[in-house]
Amino acid sequence: MNSVLQMLYKLEQLMLDIDEIYTNSKENSFLITYYFMETFYLMNNYEMKPEWLNQFRQVICSQYPQFKLNEQQDAQEFLLALLDMLHEELRNPKCGKIPIFEFQQEGEVVLTSLISYIEFENSPITKHFGNIIRTQIICQSCNYSNNKLEIAFSLLINVESSKNTVLEMLQQSFNKEVVKMKCPKCELEKKFDKQTTVIKYSEQLLICLNRYKIPGGLIDRWWNGNEIQKSTKSITLNNKLIIGKYEKILIGIVDHSGSKDKGHYRYFHLSGNDWVCFNDAKINLLCEQSIQKLIHQNETSYILLYSKQSS
Ligand SMILES: [Zn+2]
Repeated sequence: MNSVLQMLYKLEQLMLDIDEIYTNSKENSFLITYYFMETFYLMNNYEMKPEWLNQFRQVICSQYPQFKLNEQQDAQEFLLALLDMLHEELRNPKCGKIPIFEFQQEGEVVLTSLISYIEFENSPITKHFGNIIRTQIICQSCNYSNNKLEIAFSLLINVESSKNTVLEMLQQSFNKEVVKMKCPKCELEKKFDKQTTVIKYSEQLLICLNRYKIPGGLIDRWWNGNEIQKSTKSITLNNKLIIGKYEKILIGIVDHSGSKDKGHYRYFHLSGNDWVCFNDAKINLLCEQSIQKLIHQNETSYILLYSKQSS
């Protein structure tokens, strides 16, 4: 929880955008935003108390009951739940829920309106973290096609692929695949080419690394109680991601040591040319050797933050 908050609090423009809405609002329904901002002020003034963080956790639990069960809650789930809740509170009320568009043709018109929705009309969360993802399916028999556009606050990639760098794994996650489903035109079960593409990357790109797998899959776990396995595959984090015309710099890493149920999270942040480690209240500068290990032989990273500019 701490490490995720520390990561978000380092994003200066995000905090200014949220603060602007928060301080100008006369509404008192901003419960999560209230805790999020007050925690930020407390941390900045070194006045953070564990009781306060517990209270914050309780408030989140009351809306997301799954957080009650586990003391050691998954940082990725926590991050996404927090972003969802902040978005709900801070969005422009006129806009309503995040739209999902489906269309056969005229895709560009929908795309333009979705981009303007993200950039101008909605919350600081969509503005900073909103990726636009298109899922296209094409029937191999009759060429029937369907497109879906949606907004995702993070990209999930599987570390157990044949690739070793974040960029390669990212590209592999968005490869073409073949799926079987009923074709509305053929009215029969057919093979479809399915292509998922990120058509707009967010300014602050959050990448969640999936390091857990369940041997035999979910159903086998249900029957045989197979334990979830954690992967400690060593991967190389790209310092810089060049995706199409976008260039992003790695500025933040949340890592996790220990097992799924027991362990510890830390946050690493690039500050100028230095990597700083935030380990609960302790802060220390990484030496060259630790940086090399952090970037090139990383076995514990969980959430990566790539930014348009280094901050
Ligand atoms: Zn068909």
